[in-house]
Amino acid sequence: MSEVPRIILHKEREKSILRRHPWVFSGAVQRVEGGPHAGETVDIFDSNGSWLARGAYAPESRIAVRIWTWNPDEQVNADFLQVRLEQASARRADLFQPGQTTAYREVFSEADGLPGLIVDRYGAVRVLQLLTPGMERWKEEITAILSDFDGCETLYERSDADARSRENLPMRRGFLWGRDEPFEHRMMENGSTYIVDIREGHKTGFYLDQRVNRAILQELVREGDVLNAFAYTGGFTVAALKGGAVSVVSIDSSQPALDLAKRNVEVNALSLEPCEWIVGDVFQELRTFRDSRRTFDAIVLDPPRFAPTAAQAQRAARGYKDINLLALKLLRPGGMLFTFSCSGGVSPDLFQKIVAGAALDADVDAQIIRWLSQPEDHPVHIHVPESRYLKGLVLRRNA
Ligand code: SAH
Repeated sequence: MSEVPRIILHKEREKSILRRHPWVFSGAVQRVEGGPHAGETVDIFDSNGSWLARGAYAPESRIAVRIWTWNPDEQVNADFLQVRLEQASARRADLFQPGQTTAYREVFSEADGLPGLIVDRYGAVRVLQLLTPGMERWKEEITAILSDFDGCETLYERSDADARSRENLPMRRGFLWGRDEPFEHRMMENGSTYIVDIREGHKTGFYLDQRVNRAILQELVREGDVLNAFAYTGGFTVAALKGGAVSVVSIDSSQPALDLAKRNVEVNALSLEPCEWIVGDVFQELRTFRDSRRTFDAIVLDPPRFAPTAAQAQRAARGYKDINLLALKLLRPGGMLFTFSCSGGVSPDLFQKIVAGAALDADVDAQIIRWLSQPEDHPVHIHVPESRYLKGLVLRRNA
């Protein structure tokens, strides 16, 4: 029997693990033996003493153990991590045309068997988020393995996501390895160029999860007046202009984000003339447009996460309903609404219900013409349906 510390579960609490859900909640733990510290590898047993799985211990988290493996013969060490990292990377190797898309998520946490690790690749630069004690424990090994990856020139850490505070880990960002790059990085997505601020930008710098949806907007939008609400650095603004939009209004509460958005229009050799930029609150600005009777042919609503967990879903629902109701009213007949939710706590079903409720209350007749989700480099863990966190709908307003 192994000498690693042990976690013994309460009676009947092994069911989710047998169904390969990769988390053990602290409430399921009956006993901890062997005094593991944060991040240490532990063996998990059911209340009868049967071995279930091996994972990383996090004494201060609601998720006490994140599972590394269900195979008792598999040891967690540098070789194990090397295999998992190479597998994750290989899964993406053929997804993108090299000249068209150079940035993508190379490792997506549980979905790639590496709970708590995000690696976003921007060409030769890789940006890491280590979000759990279990991942933090292996930081040196992970850095060494990734630095050996093909074409890797720089590793940078952005372990400053909210999730870290839920694990009681300090926020950290900084250079990890390689060439100390200028932190403005130019990357390609669907043939468009974007400048990414790796040091100060949101997440690891760019919302890579909207890549496919930007392409869909570009294809559907054609001529017309577009409103891009929650624009950040202008991903959907560039896509709308490339798709033939006659004008694009971009709203965001962040001035630096919109400054970068303008530059992103310029680096794509697009004219700034049809662009209007509003630093403001979308909830407010939509009301201002309503009061001034301004209307649009296409509207994008891509708000930040209103509900990280299901517990906040109700409050989030009010926020989603409010902006969707307002946006539907600003839509011209035949116009399209591209509406998103990246809240893990709001299911695709619930999101559709919220949007339907908004249409009802707005007294707007509309159809759903597309269901949108996250792209293939952000896979959904088959046993963690809530890891399908990004939902989107395209609605068309009927005449
Ligand atoms: N659509 C973007 C990503 C949006 S992320 C893209 O494709 O890259 C959400 C954005 O909403 C952030 O840039 C944040 O600054 C902005 N934001 C958050 N709350 C806001 C509010 N109430 N009004 C306007 N912008 C807001």
